[in-house]
Amino acid sequence: MTKKQWSSDKIEVLDKCPVCNCKNNSILFSSIIDMMSNNVFDKWTLLRCIECNVAYLSPRPKESSIHLAYNCYYTHSSGSHSIKKEKISLLLKNLKNSLYNVKYKKKASLKDYLLYSIVFIIFPIYLFLDSKIRHIGALDTKKNKLLDIGCGNGDYLAFAKSLGWDVTGIDLDSNAVDVALSKGLNARVGDVFSLKNDEMFDAITLSHVIEHVYNPNELIQQCYDHLNPGGKLWLETPNINSIGLNVYKEYWRGLEPPRHLILYNRAALNSLLIKSGFHTVKSKTHALSGLYMGIQSEKYLDQFMNSQSFIYNKIFKYPRILFVEIIQFIFNKKSEFITLIAYK
Ligand SMILES: [Zn+2]
Repeated sequence: MTKKQWSSDKIEVLDKCPVCNCKNNSILFSSIIDMMSNNVFDKWTLLRCIECNVAYLSPRPKESSIHLAYNCYYTHSSGSHSIKKEKISLLLKNLKNSLYNVKYKKKASLKDYLLYSIVFIIFPIYLFLDSKIRHIGALDTKKNKLLDIGCGNGDYLAFAKSLGWDVTGIDLDSNAVDVALSKGLNARVGDVFSLKNDEMFDAITLSHVIEHVYNPNELIQQCYDHLNPGGKLWLETPNINSIGLNVYKEYWRGLEPPRHLILYNRAALNSLLIKSGFHTVKSKTHALSGLYMGIQSEKYLDQFMNSQSFIYNKIFKYPRILFVEIIQFIFNKKSEFITLIAYK
């Protein structure tokens, strides 16, 4: 890439907060770049709403041109990895299954109990796996319809299906949906507005989706409308109040302009969910997300920070990652991700 990709006809300026419509804001970052696609030519501004405290991009890509930002995106991958990664993902799958069987199914084998005990002793790993299961809860065979919005290549759908859930996935990325279909999963191209009026679910999951969406209020309302009474919405998104942002600033992995249009805080999401009709919102801990976000942010520091700070960065790399994990684990307010379950 040698020049600006985002000409003025492809971007729009917001005159108010896309979450609460407040017109007052302050500048959080004035020239962040898309480090994932290595585009140093287009600079983005992230504003902070004075009223609800979410951060939003303005200018941002118009909805009609946002697809250009996803040319190098990772949900395209078929999930084919190196042998080492395959082994890790198999181990994680076994651990998740054992945790699910013991915690939610109560019909577990001796091996399940053994793995569960090991995982439980290392409590952050237990919490990490539970968040990877998306805190899905016990399976009720009469209430087992699950929708994953932004299902990507269907990894989570496949896992939930293996537990007995009747799964449906939707995603805007047709390549990713093709991969999900090739795994025999019920997936299709579309967004939440493409659902039929009478398509109802008992659980809906939104994993790292809402930060990409132009109309969060409508998205959450649609989720509510497509849930059966007693159903639940599981949602996860980067936290703009996270310790990682304090430490890494414009190099924080969660910023990801211009794909992340809005970055939330817990209070703003809570009120959005309650406004849409959900009666209870519970917050969960996603352990080890500080390690993930720390490692990713360090890569950006290595790649994009000026060389004078290079040695300083190398020395503090691992202590810094550990610091982010510990703080985000202990202090819910500073967590890297906001992980919520809302009940209808
Ligand atoms: Zn606002």
